Amino acid sequence: MNASPDCIFCKIVAGQIPSRKVYEDDELYAFHDIKPWAPVHFLVIPKLHIPSMAQLEASHAALLGKMMVLAPQLALEQGCNPYPSGGFRVIANTGDDGGQEVHHLHLHVIGGPRPWARG
Ligand code: 5GP
Ligand code: ZN
Repeated sequence: MNASPDCIFCKIVAGQIPSRKVYEDDELYAFHDIKPWAPVHFLVIPKLHIPSMAQLEASHAALLGKMMVLAPQLALEQGCNPYPSGGFRVIANTGDDGGQEVHHLHLHVIGGPRPWARG
């Protein structure tokens, strides 16, 4: 899927909407969430417009693997403490019942010192 004209994350990738970049390569983009839930809260997205995890295909496996490997590296760079006393959460809200608001696949990486992560 190419860029979707009404997708805000495609516009962020294209630089049409400003964002605070955390990381970029030819396939992935990461940026700080505009409404952080915790001291560290950024989003990792593919540049490719995939609406959600529900549209994933076997051909996307390497791309998703790359996102998952990148998340802990960036979490440390952004101030999460190292495993096991430190850490973070990775969340992929999917569909209306999953609480997804932006329909461009994204991983939330959320962390920082507790108590934010309790409960
Ligand atoms: P979802 O509920 O779809 O999993 O989460 C979407 C996330 O994108 C929300 O946490 C929201 O704060 C963030 N977000 C929505 N619009 C923008 C934007 O224009 N810029 C940035 N940086 N984050 C956004
Ligand atoms: Zn998109």
